[in-house]
Amino acid sequence: SRLKSRLVKTQRALGDGLGDLLLGKRTLDQDLLDEIETALLAADVGAETTELLIRDLTGRLRRRELTEARAAYRQLRQDMLDIVRPVARPLVVPAGTRPYVVMVVGVNGVGKTTTIGKVGRRLKESGNSVMLAAGDTFRAAAIEQLKVWGERIDAPVIAQHTGADAAAVAHDAMHAARARGVDVLIVDTAGRQHTHGGLMDELRKIKRVIAKSDPSAPHEVLMVLDAGTGQNALSQLKHFGDAVGVTGIALTKLDGTAKGGILIAIARQSALPIRFIGVGEDVDDLQPFSAEDYVDALLP
Ligand code: GDP
Repeated sequence: SRLKSRLVKTQRALGDGLGDLLLGKRTLDQDLLDEIETALLAADVGAETTELLIRDLTGRLRRRELTEARAAYRQLRQDMLDIVRPVARPLVVPAGTRPYVVMVVGVNGVGKTTTIGKVGRRLKESGNSVMLAAGDTFRAAAIEQLKVWGERIDAPVIAQHTGADAAAVAHDAMHAARARGVDVLIVDTAGRQHTHGGLMDELRKIKRVIAKSDPSAPHEVLMVLDAGTGQNALSQLKHFGDAVGVTGIALTKLDGTAKGGILIAIARQSALPIRFIGVGEDVDDLQPFSAEDYVDALLP
């Protein structure tokens, strides 16, 4: 499938590695468990989540529930599915919430602007009117890039000049979205500190301004993470989560990395909904996250 071909680097690192270990006729023993552990860590499943998975297999081995390598493979696959299934929760715009406000956060370069454009396009295709707000006011290129996406998906873009107060842009956008009866407002934000107060203060201020206009908003704080940064993505998530309360994740660039196991670590350690995964630069390459498709792509 398309997803399988896009996740091929992680599939080679994790799936082939585990397949070689477990799909032979070996019996399950401590040496094999150690090799499984190494393969999981190599794919950036992370120490904590790897330990959890290995502990489960070890317990089953001790209790003699598992003796064959093949059965361990099936069990591992099931354990991964059990971890990722609960977080495969799509972004749903409820009827009656107008505008539904999505505030998008993340460090520079993770694919934030691209994700906004692609999410906007998806929401438009499902019948919503969409407005974008250029809240990354520091980078002229970010404002320009958002305007390009606005034209491409035929969505108005609320923007001010470079260096403008991002909270003021958010304030304008809330007003404009209300006035025009827009269904979904997507607010871009800066990804790097540039003001005296610091990035987290700026993000908190944007959130406050949005909430002032509608106490139930923002309805989603979507954090964009680059899978290629591996374990770093987890610390970014913690940092932003503590500051602004992340409610959903878009995990990009799963196509370019062998570290795709980070998705399992994120699922396990944050329990936050993974709304979308990015598997390429094309507009259709941002997909709603499906637990089954992901595990199928990694572990055939
Ligand atoms: P921002 O700085 O976070 O706004 O990042 P951009 O949206 O400008 O994206 C940075 C680069 O990453 C662009 O060249 C995008 O096309 C690319 N990109 C975004 N998502 C993906 C993805 O899922 N896969 C790949 N291969 N590239 C991506």
